[in-house]
Amino acid sequence: MHHVTKNVEETQALAKKWLEKHKDQKIWLLKGDLGAGKTSFVKGIASHFKKDPKQVKSPTFSLIEDHGTWIHVDLYRLENPDPTLEEELNEYLEAGYSLFVEWPERMNLWEKHSHVEVQITHLGGDERELTLSLLP
Ligand code: ADP
Ligand code: MG
Repeated sequence: MHHVTKNVEETQALAKKWLEKHKDQKIWLLKGDLGAGKTSFVKGIASHFKKDPKQVKSPTFSLIEDHGTWIHVDLYRLENPDPTLEEELNEYLEAGYSLFVEWPERMNLWEKHSHVEVQITHLGGDERELTLSLLP
């Protein structure tokens, strides 16, 4: 599924729409360069969970930001495989949390689970192309 957004609000609205369409999906992998709009996408889903999007910021010091029933994960700073972190993420999954993950390429935990992949591509200016794939 492809979609082009013209501003950040459209990306956030699309995030919410896609989440509602794929409610059963617990793992959302957000791919794209720095500044593509991955964190903005997560802000968009926050309202679905009755959260203020302002409370969604890039997790800086910790790689995981816990929002109660879902977590926002940013693996940008993960340099080496981290079994403790993997275990922690597995525990969140077992507890029924939804996971929204930036830089999922840094880990290969995902192949074992069905997940949604959202690729965000900068088209120039404020335009972004978002592509949703259901995997496997
Ligand atoms: P990432 O997490 O991928 O590094 P961010 O979401 O933090 O990216 O930043 C994206 C930036 O691009 C924000 O400043 C946002 O306002 C801006 N932006 C402009 N147009 C769009 C768009 N169509 N979709 C998403 N973000 C956009
Ligand atoms: Mg980000």
